[in-house]
Amino acid sequence: MPAHAQVIDMHTADVNMAEADTQPALTDGFHLVIDALKLNDINTIYGVPGIPITDLGRLAQAEGIRVISFRHEQHAGNAAAIAGFLTKKPGICLTVSAPGFLNGLTALANATTNCFPMILISGSSEREIVDLQQGDYEEMDQLAIAKPLCKAAFRVLHAADIGIGVARAIRAACSGRPGGVYLDLPAKLFAQVMDAEAGAKSLVKVIDPAPAQIPAPEAIARALAVLKTAERPLIILGKGAAYAQADEAVRALVETSGIPYVPMSMAKGLLPDTHPLSAGAARSTVLKEADVVLLVGARLNWLLSHGKGKTWGAPGSKKFIQIDIEPREMDSNVEIVAPVVGDIGSCVAALLDGMKGGWPAPPAAWTETIKAKKDANIAKMGQRLLKNSIPMDFHGALGVLRTIIKERPDAILVNEGANTLDLARGVIDMYQPRKRLDVGTWGIMGIGMGFAVAAAVETGKPVLAVEGDSAFGFSGMEVETICRYDLPVCIVVFNNNGIYRGTDVNPSGAADVAPTVFVKDARYDKMMEAFGGVGVNVTTPDALREAVNAAMDSGRPTLINAVIDPSAGTESGNIGSLNPQSTVKRK
Ligand code: ADP
Ligand code: MG
Repeated sequence: MPAHAQVIDMHTADVNMAEADTQPALTDGFHLVIDALKLNDINTIYGVPGIPITDLGRLAQAEGIRVISFRHEQHAGNAAAIAGFLTKKPGICLTVSAPGFLNGLTALANATTNCFPMILISGSSEREIVDLQQGDYEEMDQLAIAKPLCKAAFRVLHAADIGIGVARAIRAACSGRPGGVYLDLPAKLFAQVMDAEAGAKSLVKVIDPAPAQIPAPEAIARALAVLKTAERPLIILGKGAAYAQADEAVRALVETSGIPYVPMSMAKGLLPDTHPLSAGAARSTVLKEADVVLLVGARLNWLLSHGKGKTWGAPGSKKFIQIDIEPREMDSNVEIVAPVVGDIGSCVAALLDGMKGGWPAPPAAWTETIKAKKDANIAKMGQRLLKNSIPMDFHGALGVLRTIIKERPDAILVNEGANTLDLARGVIDMYQPRKRLDVGTWGIMGIGMGFAVAAAVETGKPVLAVEGDSAFGFSGMEVETICRYDLPVCIVVFNNNGIYRGTDVNPSGAADVAPTVFVKDARYDKMMEAFGGVGVNVTTPDALREAVNAAMDSGRPTLINAVIDPSAGTESGNIGSLNPQSTVKRK
């Protein structure tokens, strides 16, 4: 640069600095999004960086938000969703436009189906170009696509509206029945500059995002009247009850009423599965024979056979009482004779209040029937769990994991697969609330590593992820994420060489293997080693026990390839009835 140019340059710099002193401080879209999240105590973002949100993640980290980057948006989304379930604050998933958005959308839809509060924030392309369909980079009308798949969807076009946009998203996600919310932030918004003071004023701190919803006194009286007439009462606890974090009240309801209960999968541990009033081990008997059923944050969907049919005994033999925050849930499948609409904490407290004058214990004939059935089933199962056969079968391996969770009740169990899921749900007792995270309402595969990451990040507790080999494959690349953040996650892959079983053969006789079969004797443990974690291959229950305990003690990322007899599984696990089979035989 010539000398005179340098002089002029320094001169301009002086002028600029003087101007900066007198000019009001500025903020922009990036900082307003971050400030809005922080103002609302959101301290973690799960996502995948890229255009146009790379700098948002970077700046968020600089401002003290924990930013956990994944390898695929679906897993970041699943992490956000389960963070929402665990904390009652919306989990945040941050993605790029079109394809990244679509990848995150599966998790958003799943969160909505499961009633988990979550916000998917995606960058998007320029409105003017998208709306005229002129072919922008990653062009897509994301807001329109998200709308039918989530609880609410919003777009912010002006930096001054970011505060309101974030507040609306939080309120929509958390209030009433929780769910997924989409927040569309076009690329141009991030760089929009505005006066910093006006910007700060535009932010909104959401007061009481999930206000208590007090049940009507008549509804409580009606429910108590029905419950009192019961000869064979039953309580079903669902994941809504786990989500509500009204653990003491729920326990008091069970113990004060003396009514046996069955936990749905993710409600296991709300009371310890070993509780004397747990009827989990007599599930089919109690569903069939109960005369009054009190549903607490559990829907009568497919997971409860829609409240009718063989599972539920003679038609008309039941009366249902239902506690739910969503009024439209009532009568969705069968008649609800006593709907109690409100939040679980308030509803259960009101029921308890009504029981204060004393509550009759359920008839002994009922509780004794249940106890006999339970004892018999537990004894039968005990035999199978002790099996030390090689190759291992599911029960032999699960017996080990059952003991480990008993000894480490504050560990979080993530579970997905077919047989691996169904059998683990029955075999592994849970002792504390919100410790079992699984495939939920959709029975979706692929939640494993996203859930494991968020469980470790949100709770700081050790995580044991029990995965079918097929289920693990959906999110397996995230072992790198687990290693990168050095999370205390121990993954056990139940490797039976395939989906359901590894023994199917190609009926045509051609060289391709059957569609349900994977590479034989694959070594998933090597994947973990590739990223610096610990990999172990085990073929016996004893070796499995040793490896899991070592992982839980060390807190190091570990993947244990547990070799399971390839012929051990059954088609579709417990839900074979949903899997149609052709009866036509072609010549
Ligand atoms: P599960 O599969 O464990 O049976 P579901 O997901 O079917 O559980 O049902 C959960 C139910 O809990 C949903 O109907 C939802 O509206 C309800 N719910 C969620 N949070 C609350 C809450 N805080 N208070 C009352 N009901 C709630
Ligand atoms: Mg398998």
